[in-house]
Amino acid sequence: MLDKRKFYINGEWVDPITQNDLYVLNPATEKPIAVVSLGTAEDIDRAVTAARKAFASYSRTSVEERLALLEKLLAIYKRRYDEMADTITAELGAPKTMSREQQADVGVGHLQGYIDALKNLKLREKLPNGDTLLREPIGVCGLITPWNWPVNQIALKVVPVLATGCTCVLKPSEFTPLNAMLYAEMIHEAGFPAGVFNLVNGDGIHAGAALSKHKDIDMMSFTGSTRAGIAVSKDAADTVKRVTLELGGKSPNIVFADADIEERVTASILECFNNSGQSCDAPTRMLVERSVYDKVVEIARRVGREARVGDPTREGSHIGPLVSHIQYERVQALIEAGVAEGAILLAGGPGKPEGFETGYFVKPTIFAAVNNTMRIAREEVFGPVLSIIPFDTEEEAIEIANDTNYGLAAYVQTGDPERAQRVAARLRAGMVHINGGPHRYGSPFGGYKQSGNGREGGMFGLEDFLEVKTVHLPDAA
Ligand code: NDP
Repeated sequence: MLDKRKFYINGEWVDPITQNDLYVLNPATEKPIAVVSLGTAEDIDRAVTAARKAFASYSRTSVEERLALLEKLLAIYKRRYDEMADTITAELGAPKTMSREQQADVGVGHLQGYIDALKNLKLREKLPNGDTLLREPIGVCGLITPWNWPVNQIALKVVPVLATGCTCVLKPSEFTPLNAMLYAEMIHEAGFPAGVFNLVNGDGIHAGAALSKHKDIDMMSFTGSTRAGIAVSKDAADTVKRVTLELGGKSPNIVFADADIEERVTASILECFNNSGQSCDAPTRMLVERSVYDKVVEIARRVGREARVGDPTREGSHIGPLVSHIQYERVQALIEAGVAEGAILLAGGPGKPEGFETGYFVKPTIFAAVNNTMRIAREEVFGPVLSIIPFDTEEEAIEIANDTNYGLAAYVQTGDPERAQRVAARLRAGMVHINGGPHRYGSPFGGYKQSGNGREGGMFGLEDFLEVKTVHLPDAA
């Protein structure tokens, strides 16, 4: 078992101020793989002090210096790529192939996306009225990240900090701290000055809240549940920090009768199940035009029953376990709620899949005849659970799609390009995917409504970490 009890503060690995061990479990075996420490407010304070001190000089480095450091980090990440993929498989349970092709790959993509954006960032510009506008690093940032796409979230927050001349303290999820510690090793090797990046493990209510409340933190960037995002915002309010939030979703996927039904429905189901359904932008509400509803139900029944869970250490397209026992219980409760509310079970259902009694495995589950008032249509399940809802008209589809507290992603499947654009314009969501159009690195990621504030990735992601200063000169004589 790995001993990972130290924190990375001021350029070195240090012991926690108070010993407080936590075992990290492998979700497929339920066995401990490492021991880490849970940090306290004192550890956070020590890290914030280091970050504050480093800000004085790092904020004044040039873009060229920071680009050189980021290029180095990219080379190191590529060299240690397989280690990152294996770490995520061990602590999250993401299957080997998925870890390598998706979970670890985003670490390269986002870093490259930010490097490209930094090269085009205008830090000084003349406004049409003659004033000068400067963009400056906001300061010391507190970063809190979840377990579901762990290095994705770390890269989306840490890289813009490093790129803009900010400094930070990262508190990753206590369920997946090992990939964050590996990332810290890479940052160290790349040669970023001591104190620019600091890492303290810990839980949300102690270490997380201490970060949000700390008077020397200028900005909080949070990804996770809407519940915790609200807590971070409240904790940050007394010191008027900027708070950016990337929260949950209940993303609609509108399937019109004129789409390539077989191909689009199959791909949509697999996308919903990807990462065991633990993605904030998963297409979890499939809205289906009534004229093709029976056909879609048949495809969903077949694809759902063919979907397989399996050992994450094996190559293949199977899905792994959920991250933790808590998540397992949450997902079970929502599957049971779906049954109790009268939705029709096409595949899966409550309980563990046969042969997977150990590990937090759940059955890939599809419900039909769902209506948008049911819990499975309103709450983020965060498991491989799809709800199918029929509709009659385009107008009704838009209405159901927007009838949610969330607004992260939306999906449209149609053979009519004009309809695709017309519907996309009416959906209250930060990202609309048409006929499988993927999210590309460098494009903004984020949501409307209770899915959050701010955008991550590329130029928009950099701007979130910048202050704007206007310099006024006297009118020319
Ligand atoms: P949380 O939102 O609780 O966890 C995300 C991060 O926030 C973790 O680092 C957590 O710390 C931290 N945190 C929790 N509470 C606070 C707080 N009061 N102040 C500061 N930081 C805090 O997610 P859960 O793990 O509990 O998952 C619950 C649900 O959240 C899921 O079922 C899913 O619906 C949703 N979720 C959404 C994500 C997204 O990407 N939108 C990501 C993860 C979850 P720690 O866990 O270490 O205590």
